[in-house]
Amino acid sequence: MAKKAGTKYIFVSGGVISGIGKGVATSSIALLMKSRGFSTTAVKADPYLNIDAGTLNPIEHGEVFVLDDGMECDQDLGNYERFLNQDLNASNYMTTGQIFKSIIDRERALGYEGKTVEFFQHPPEEIINRIEGCADRNKAEIVVFEIGGTVGEYQNLLYLEANRLFKLRYPDDVLHVHVTYLPTPSSIGEMKSKPAQMSILELASSGIVADFVLARSKEEIDQKRKEKIAIACGLQVEDILSAPDVDNIYKVPINLEGQKYSNMILKKLGLEPRSSDLKEWTNMVKKAEKPEQTVKIAMVGKYFSTGDFTLSDAYISVIESIKHAATFYNTKPGIDWIDSSQIERDGTEVLSKYDGIIVPGGFGSRGVEGIISAIRFARENKVPYFGLCFGMQLATVEFARNVAKLDKAHTTEIDSKTPHPVIDIMTDQEKLLVGREYGGTMRLGAFPCKIKEGTVAQRAYATGQIIERHRHRYEFNNEYRQTLEKAGLVISGTSLNGRLVEMIELPRHPFFIGTQFHPEFKSRPLKPHPLYNEFIKACLNNSTNTTGVVSDSNSKVIVEGTN
Ligand code: GLN
Repeated sequence: MAKKAGTKYIFVSGGVISGIGKGVATSSIALLMKSRGFSTTAVKADPYLNIDAGTLNPIEHGEVFVLDDGMECDQDLGNYERFLNQDLNASNYMTTGQIFKSIIDRERALGYEGKTVEFFQHPPEEIINRIEGCADRNKAEIVVFEIGGTVGEYQNLLYLEANRLFKLRYPDDVLHVHVTYLPTPSSIGEMKSKPAQMSILELASSGIVADFVLARSKEEIDQKRKEKIAIACGLQVEDILSAPDVDNIYKVPINLEGQKYSNMILKKLGLEPRSSDLKEWTNMVKKAEKPEQTVKIAMVGKYFSTGDFTLSDAYISVIESIKHAATFYNTKPGIDWIDSSQIERDGTEVLSKYDGIIVPGGFGSRGVEGIISAIRFARENKVPYFGLCFGMQLATVEFARNVAKLDKAHTTEIDSKTPHPVIDIMTDQEKLLVGREYGGTMRLGAFPCKIKEGTVAQRAYATGQIIERHRHRYEFNNEYRQTLEKAGLVISGTSLNGRLVEMIELPRHPFFIGTQFHPEFKSRPLKPHPLYNEFIKACLNNSTNTTGVVSDSNSKVIVEGTN
């Protein structure tokens, strides 16, 4: 594929440790480029052999984010969409598994015409083709490309090699930003630059000289350490930028722009800025900084935490969506995770101090009865309730059992022998599971939904038809539709042909909505999601508005409210 004239590429790598915010750095650079008037897109490359993130355990890898076209990808794509305020597609995500699969499929079809397919030659070519394909598909003038993993690992070498070859081919159009880390060990009490120097030099050993270094650290990096790094690594002092910890990730682009970063990038790329517009973004960040009230949300589900990832990674889009809507209402959210097994043991008492309850998406049976008790608590005590996918399915189960009196009603995901399967496997999903065809086979991506007139959903969306993103195998069982409607459940959203139930709600309740889709995949800081807004509004009305962090020894604080 020939390179489109003028397209520029910014590669981003990470050094020293994982989890230093490379995704946020990539998103921030992309936003800065967009704010200067260039059509910009961002790509994530995961160095795994998995084809997509759909088969990865969220406990180990964080949330599986879903794009409109159904691509199940890394949570970083969520950040790209939130910062860029743009919908991305499958071309914005690649894994080493995808790269190898294409190459092997092509080899089997004699696509290499008898040549040896080389490990260190053909994958980087395939990567370059995909990056250019992504630029084309997204009509991007600037592509920001995040190389997953940390420099020095074997598994991302193919991406670094693609970067090196790309730079050789188009020396004026390719930049490299290295995000590195300067620790301040408590025993020394001083910021140390040696690990950062080593990671920059390690990158250089792959044939790539960093054009910029973003120095992640607790405090701002000082001039002396910038000089040390510059001398040791052959860089200019001014190309080392400060990226200290922040309490709100949306501040990162503002901090970088405070150092005139977009100008520096454009200069190196030989581009003239066309505009400068970070105003709306800056206002949003300022608004989040001066909350007038707090709201206390309980997120209920099974507890897990291992390795680098915890609950807040697995539900990052839900948490961000709550923040977007809360900021919209000048509110600081305090979000606690309530372990549903604890509710099974000790009852729902723990929920009484919250203004609203969310049950997010989920799979599997652990703690499910506790979740159902929490939903019952929300319904009976008129506490705003928002159920997302699994949270909608279990709200249906709760209603069936306790209002429609369908004893032992359940979803067949948990109880395949339930006498009342109010949630059941989708017919086309059944054979997939029998054939163990798990990868990329759920009902995935954007589907239209029509909204029933006069419902809370319609008031929130202010329209009769919407498009939302899905990821599930089970659905509302239509055989129970009449019974449940008769008992008072409102089906407020369905697929266009009316066959699939996509939203349920309860009348005479301040807010009780369940969605089969995941609205959190479409909430943006500059465009909070209408359902999250409506939920937060209901929580505020319900709130006793005592300020302060809600937490007790049994719940885990995910996001702290105002002290
Ligand atoms: N486990 C449920 C299903 O597959 C819900 C999935 C989810 O919450 N994303 O239908």
